Amino acid sequence: MNIPNIKKVELHLHLDGSISLDLVKKLSNLPIEEIKKQMIAKEKCNDLKDYLTHFDLPISIMQTKENLKLVALDLIKQLKKDNVIYAEVRFAPIFHTKQGLSIEEVVTTINEVFNQEQDIKLNLILCMMRGTKPKDNAEIIYLAKKYLNKGVCAIDLAGDEINYPLELYKDLFKKADELNIPFTIHAGETSNSKEIKKAIQFNAKRIGHGIKAIDDDEVLNIIKEKQILLEICPTSNIQTNAVDKIQNHPVYKLYQQGILLNINTDNRTVSNTTLNKEYKLLQDTFKFTTADFIKMNKWAIEKSFLNDQEKEKISKLLTKF
Ligand SMILES: [Zn+2]
Repeated sequence: MNIPNIKKVELHLHLDGSISLDLVKKLSNLPIEEIKKQMIAKEKCNDLKDYLTHFDLPISIMQTKENLKLVALDLIKQLKKDNVIYAEVRFAPIFHTKQGLSIEEVVTTINEVFNQEQDIKLNLILCMMRGTKPKDNAEIIYLAKKYLNKGVCAIDLAGDEINYPLELYKDLFKKADELNIPFTIHAGETSNSKEIKKAIQFNAKRIGHGIKAIDDDEVLNIIKEKQILLEICPTSNIQTNAVDKIQNHPVYKLYQQGILLNINTDNRTVSNTTLNKEYKLLQDTFKFTTADFIKMNKWAIEKSFLNDQEKEKISKLLTKF
């Protein structure tokens, strides 16, 4: 199997966790060893909260329009190396307002770069954050509505799942649903299957990670029945200790049970990975084939937040080498 040749779709990818080390070096002037120490998470962190500390450095340099543009271009370069043809890139605009940019300026700056890209189709998912002010999260909903189908395709909720359960965000998702903004929610990564069930009750169309569904037949049945796609990020799950080792990752069991899923990096730099590496890891561990990966990419397009016409166009490209 020639993994780099497989045309790919990536749906779960954080912009701030994916800035290349070279660009961080250029923008921070820190020595490379120091950057690696601050930004690359250990192969095994204590927990998700520990993993999330590695975002401080990239966020500190993503505070001006110039730098945001460079970060967006840097990501596009990485996606090309992985042969990604469609990506939904997520980030939390509120983290990039420390030097005076408004959340709208943050979004339009990245959007502008993504819109100019010819070879890869790109959309933004705007993240609300667990633990930030309700007002800040509400603003993300209104911003997503304003730019929906104009570079923004959905919203998400990210951050510390354990200390900020989903129930706290019920009203926000109700509002998003009323405004017809689609969403995916990080759930059942380090929390439990009940959080996945709740996310689906809120009307999430996809689940970020969702791997804890494997513990709960009722939740698996709901996922199957509603055709919810799980955005799987294998290496990241090991690092956050959501799974102890790759051999025990539920991705193969979920796949065998007919659960819709796709493969993602989560954070290219924090997790020290690429999409090619993630595919190789799964091929080596579980013997996934090219046909399996093509099938997952087709599901990813089907459950992407593109319109039907765009889905059809990109889906046709997935089987061509
Ligand atoms: Zn994530």
